[in-house]
Amino acid sequence: MSRFETRRHKLRRAVKRAGADALLVTDFRNVTYLTGFTGDDSYLLLRRDGETLLSDGRYTTQLEEECPGLDLDIRRPSVKMLDATARLARRAKVGKLAIEADSMTVAFRDNLGEKLSKMELVSTSGLVGQLRLCKDRDEVQRIRQAVACAEKAFTAVCAALTPDKTEKEVADELEHTVRRIGAQSASFPPIVAVGPRSALPHAPPTGRRIGENGFVLIDWGARDDLYVSDLTRVVIRGKLSAKLRRVYSVVLDAQRRAIEAIRPGVAAKDVDAVARGVIADAGFGRRFNHGLGHGIGLDVHEGPRLSSIVDTALRPGMVVTVEPGIYLPGWGGGRIEDDVLVTRNGCEVLTSVAKQLNEVVLS
Ligand code: ZN
Ligand code: ZN
Repeated sequence: MSRFETRRHKLRRAVKRAGADALLVTDFRNVTYLTGFTGDDSYLLLRRDGETLLSDGRYTTQLEEECPGLDLDIRRPSVKMLDATARLARRAKVGKLAIEADSMTVAFRDNLGEKLSKMELVSTSGLVGQLRLCKDRDEVQRIRQAVACAEKAFTAVCAALTPDKTEKEVADELEHTVRRIGAQSASFPPIVAVGPRSALPHAPPTGRRIGENGFVLIDWGARDDLYVSDLTRVVIRGKLSAKLRRVYSVVLDAQRRAIEAIRPGVAAKDVDAVARGVIADAGFGRRFNHGLGHGIGLDVHEGPRLSSIVDTALRPGMVVTVEPGIYLPGWGGGRIEDDVLVTRNGCEVLTSVAKQLNEVVLS
């Protein structure tokens, strides 16, 4: 059984447990996960006795290469996706059709319901997401490659940093360099935030020069083939202020303690609580205003989230970011982000680019 067949087999059981006869998979990363097909605008109808991928003529050759043997329904340009989907479901003769409520628009669902008036549509959430939580060996290897690409690119860009470069220029260089090194692309538009801008956890890069302030926060990652990495480092320039030393050391300590807590069986919210406790004890509790981390895989943000409201117990094969931060409006923020694999006995930090303050100082 190929790894895609194994995934579909597991999903079939989940669909049955959800009380449905078939699942219409509309999230394009989920379609990739289940078939290996990397194009978009294509839906997978997973029935009890098989599956069919609904796509269009642009992808015929790519489909043959990426998922040979998969049953295909190639929609003609004159046939709308809605009509093709309804026809496919009708032919499958299913009574209860499950849909992915997280990825379908209300309009599409309403229109599909009208066309399939004799069928019962059942909204489901996270059926494929549950399978994607734990990565297999091949997926972990791909994430390792995405980490390696991101780290090589960061090292190369940092070696060429000069104070007159703007946030935007550094972000562009990172994007270009991850590609040149071999990744498909950056996994998201990099964040390069100088001084006070770093107080915005998701600051878009501007024309500010990186030498304007004593430090710059860089959050970036690579998509190598299909899987992603996601890292954050603070790069120091010149003399380090006492305030930055304090903030950074608290964040670093919070991150170290959280990573030490990661092992199978521990609830995601308990790992979050470890980091939050360290930051609160240092007097910055209200300044850590986001969750501790998130899963990475085909998407930059996927399950499991490490947050105070997530009970999910960690399991071997999960890959999560651990990214505590302290943000002081008007002054700036410090965040450190690494990618961590949950192993059978504990965890393995996949990222290795330097993060001790004395290692990240630019000359
Ligand atoms: Zn990040
Ligand atoms: Zn992240």
